[in-house]
Amino acid sequence: MAKELKGIIVPMVTPFNADESLDEPALRRVVNYLIESGVHGLFPAGSQGEFYALTPHETKRITDVVIDEADGRVAVMVGTGALIASNAQRKRSKGMSNYDVVVIGGSAAGVPAAITSRRHYPGKTVLVIRKESRAVIPCAIPYIFGELSSSSQSLFSDGVLSSNGIDLNIGEVVEIDRGRRIITTVDGEQVHYNKLILATGSLPVVPPIPGAEKEGIFALQKSVPYLERMIEAMDRAKSIVIVGCGFIGETPTSRWWRC
Ligand SMILES: Cc1cc2nc3c(=O)[nH]c(=O)nc-3n(C[C@H](O)[C@H](O)[C@H](O)COP(=O)(O)OP(=O)(O)OC[C@H]3O[C@@H](n4cnc5c(N)ncnc54)[C@H](O)[C@@H]3O)c2cc1C
Repeated sequence: MAKELKGIIVPMVTPFNADESLDEPALRRVVNYLIESGVHGLFPAGSQGEFYALTPHETKRITDVVIDEADGRVAVMVGTGALIASNAQRKRSKGMSNYDVVVIGGSAAGVPAAITSRRHYPGKTVLVIRKESRAVIPCAIPYIFGELSSSSQSLFSDGVLSSNGIDLNIGEVVEIDRGRRIITTVDGEQVHYNKLILATGSLPVVPPIPGAEKEGIFALQKSVPYLERMIEAMDRAKSIVIVGCGFIGETPTSRWWRC
């Protein structure tokens, strides 16, 4: 049912991290600050002038976060402006999005594949989908345990995607319908593609050693939360055993020796 909009409806700033990814905790704080200050409505997603720099996915994510945090306390109006008509349509679209090229995987293989697609075919729309909101640079993982103080210093910059006109969607793809050319994420979001590139990478192989699944035993995985748990465990540990002592196995010891 249509609702009359009245009172104070505030254009919201969009907070970003240094790597140009959306700063979701800060966005939630802004929502609460404004509501607690007595406003009657929120106007997120580009209403301060940054709309031209927001991808359709970023607009959707901002919308989801603001609606979630507002939790019905005030009205939410969403900015859907864009410099390119097709982007504005995608921002307004509630249904399935549509891309010329979709790349599943946003790491060493997926990002160059997306950039190459876009540079060879500048008129085509390109989307990268990856599972994790913060993607670690795999080759930098060993240095997290030594020279770098945390995993946040070894993240891919999502800015390279937006500066190349590539959209980024965070989500796990769970189904590919090759006949209809539709992929589906774990959240039920669907994307129609013309060309699909799979760059879903690899996971470490753990030999079937009894007990390998127990707490305190780690393989080097390319996941920020996992690596942070591993660093915490290493900092607490009285002794550490590393199985496999090539380049990757040897480097984590530097943090331990430093302690
Ligand atoms: C500790 C470590 C150190 C390394 N050091 C070096 C080095 O110094 N030099 C070097 O050349 N190589 C190094 N490597 C190897 C290098 O990191 C890998 O070869 C490279 O990461 C492979 O890239 P990829 O894009 O194929 O896959 P990955 O890096 O594994 O990325 C896979 C991507 O696919 C996404 N994905 C997977 N499944 C789904 C799904 N269902 N839905 C959505 N997204 C999905 C993931 O989110 C991720 O973004 C190192 C690897 C490790 C682990």
